[in-house]
Amino acid sequence: RAKASGKARHEVFVTGMRVQVMTRLQLETDLRRAIERQEFRLHYQPLISLQTGKIAGFEALVRWQHPERGLVPPNDFIPVAEETDLIIPMGQWITHEACRQLHLWQEKFPQEQPLIVSVNLSGKQFSQPDLVEQIEQTLQDTGLDGRTLKLEITESMAMTDVESTIALLQRLKALHLQLSIDDFGTGYSSLSYLHRFPTNTIKVDRSFVSRMGDEGEDAQIVQTIIILGHNLGMDIVAEGVETAEQLASLRGLKCEYGQGFFFSKPLVAEAAEALLQTDPQW
Ligand code: C2E
Ligand code: MG
Ligand code: MG
Ligand code: MG
Repeated sequence: RAKASGKARHEVFVTGMRVQVMTRLQLETDLRRAIERQEFRLHYQPLISLQTGKIAGFEALVRWQHPERGLVPPNDFIPVAEETDLIIPMGQWITHEACRQLHLWQEKFPQEQPLIVSVNLSGKQFSQPDLVEQIEQTLQDTGLDGRTLKLEITESMAMTDVESTIALLQRLKALHLQLSIDDFGTGYSSLSYLHRFPTNTIKVDRSFVSRMGDEGEDAQIVQTIIILGHNLGMDIVAEGVETAEQLASLRGLKCEYGQGFFFSKPLVAEAAEALLQTDPQW
């Protein structure tokens, strides 16, 4: 009996592997085609200034409009795009499209503090030797003021090679861009390096924000990150704000910005523009 179930397990394993390899290959083929066929879409999630309650800008989040599978979320294809280097042309398109769109919205909705756009960089992009030149070119091509473009790199990316991260961030900083550390608190502690990163913003990971409601340990972690960031002269963005209670706590902690389903899900460009038209205040 033990033998039989062992064999069964083995077969399931092999079949599972085969399926995985097939989908991985299919995914890669489809991804290549997707770039030519322009199947990627950007959704825009509002970033709210907690002081004014108004929209300060948007984070651009990529999706794949797959002809058969429908809208595919980034976590399902970014890893393969990274492994195959397809992330390079994809990332160029993402940055260009986000800058183009925001420049249009800045002209349509002028405000004292111009709307900003936040773009996620992948590890591969971050290690491209000509990243700085590419971004500079994109700003020229789209007419966007570099001060209103924010680049997000994750804490883990920043910590992979601290010295080259600092050097690269300084070169990006020279373009007057804004820089943000994403998913803060989930990677290896960068506390001893944090003050050396020329970053403007820390984004507190959603996992801490979502558990802060009960005033337990996670509320204290969020508070500690905010105080730390402020001491280093950085702004804080809380991601994954889903409840009025979380919003109230974050305001009490003097967190500058919030992002999350409580305000809005990521929206297609038309819906984001409609939201800007209504000029909401939270
Ligand atoms: P991220 O940069 O940390 O983006 C935040 C993610 O949290 C987004 O998921 C967003 O839809 C989701 N989110 C925002 N507010 C809430 C909330 O209140 N509750 C919950 N449950 N979720 C919320 P999304 O769009 O699926 O993106 C997942 C990740 O994929 C991103 O995490 C980012 O690491 C990556 N990604 C997305 N777009 C891009 C891109 O254009 N380039 C690269 N390199 N990576 C991207
Ligand atoms: Mg992000
Ligand atoms: Mg994040
Ligand atoms: Mg995240």
